[in-house]
Amino acid sequence: MTIHAPFDNTYARLPQAFYTKLSPTPVRAPKLVAYNEPLGQLLGFSHASAEERAAVFSGVTLPEGATPLAQLYAGHQFGSFNPQLGDGRAILLGEVVGSDGKRRDIQLKGSGPTPYSRMGDGRAWLGPVLREYVVSEAMHSLGIPTTRALAATLTGEEVLRDSVLPGAVLTRVAASHLRVGTFQVFAHRGQISELRQLTDYALARHYPEADGPMGLLRAVCSAQADLIAAWMSVGFIHGVMNTDNCAISGETIDYGPCAFMDDYHADTVFSSIDRTGRYAYSNQPRIAVWNMAQFATALLQQLDDPEAAVPEATKIVHAMPSQIEAAWLRRFAAKIGIADPQKDDTALIEDLLALMQAQGADFTNTFAALGEGGARDQFLDPKAFDAWEQTWLARIGERDAAQALMVQVNPRVIPRNHRIEAMIAAAVAGDYAPFERLMQAFADPFGASDSDLMRPPLASEKVPATFCGT
Ligand code: AMP
Ligand code: MG
Repeated sequence: MTIHAPFDNTYARLPQAFYTKLSPTPVRAPKLVAYNEPLGQLLGFSHASAEERAAVFSGVTLPEGATPLAQLYAGHQFGSFNPQLGDGRAILLGEVVGSDGKRRDIQLKGSGPTPYSRMGDGRAWLGPVLREYVVSEAMHSLGIPTTRALAATLTGEEVLRDSVLPGAVLTRVAASHLRVGTFQVFAHRGQISELRQLTDYALARHYPEADGPMGLLRAVCSAQADLIAAWMSVGFIHGVMNTDNCAISGETIDYGPCAFMDDYHADTVFSSIDRTGRYAYSNQPRIAVWNMAQFATALLQQLDDPEAAVPEATKIVHAMPSQIEAAWLRRFAAKIGIADPQKDDTALIEDLLALMQAQGADFTNTFAALGEGGARDQFLDPKAFDAWEQTWLARIGERDAAQALMVQVNPRVIPRNHRIEAMIAAAVAGDYAPFERLMQAFADPFGASDSDLMRPPLASEKVPATFCGT
């Protein structure tokens, strides 16, 4: 017996240059530790026992209809181009069209070595698997485009990192796994017909209303602009915005050393490998534009006269900062109760953020409290808030409508780093109660009432650094 799902694998029907077909490496003792029942139903995965699910979502058994493969891609990592990356520890099982009519990739992450593994073991350990599970599902509940988590399994095998850790596999669901790096690999190699084929494939799959390489560029720039503004609005720091982690679909992808800010500071960095702060909170808009410039460069290679299209591509990429600003203003204005932002509101929001930064205010709780009338207490010196509040109250006018808006857009809970780390430590010791508790709270981040999860970390609880998923 295996699990059935309505697979229809378009990527596997592309030429061999795009991937290496191979199966996941079986594991010793698969055990299902998390399964996303509503998502499984949406995708049309048949009902199955925990054993069957464990076998399929750890890579021991292939579901019927799967065409397993590892995808090829390249990418700029921290600004330096790596001409060949690819799925080094992931296998795409295939695509399913869900009951909502949307096509999605089903991918196993941590499923064993592939021709693209380089020095890696092809495996993942339980910590990053559960981190991605919780944070990606929280992002989904926050209304932010993201890949999703269908299942997490233990492999029953050990993974060697700084210490010996329990191996695990994440089943990731994505609109697709096409990345900027997927285009870069063919552009770099001068494989123009593959580059054209990939462009057509991406247009058909994600932006059927757009046309040609420049149409695709315009669509992806818009999607990325909206995405980055959404991240900023919840204090999310991706941590590794390399071009291989930048999805063409506009979904958040690859939750490695990502984290949410507690107290607001524009320069916040969590990732232990980001020593220069390249991917700091406030740098994210700039990096998104830089990534789109790399995308444009790759796309241009397929034109008969790339030089002739440079002005148009430049114009599209240069339009991005103002697109991000507009989306940022819309989102942050809503966070302070303004539905129809004017240009001047930017200063009002920036003044509040500056005050929060100077006063050690918690990002999530300050905005949540603003909607509930208690923001003053979030500031070390509450008097510092009073002057800003007067200006703000004069701007919003009628308070009820503003409050109704704020309650809708300001989450009460976010996956705080110290909670994620404590959840991982418990799970490694076999206790999944903290995981279940987080999943329950993040199912409704706007209405959650778990006051302990709303509390910022004490100085002694703070987890200032996150480590890469490898
Ligand atoms: P990431 O930083 O997770 O986006 O990964 C960057 C690249 O390294 C991708 O090509 C991954 O497939 C590869 N990679 C990361 N971890 C491993 C691992 N444990 N084994 C093999 N490849 C890996
Ligand atoms: Mg990656």
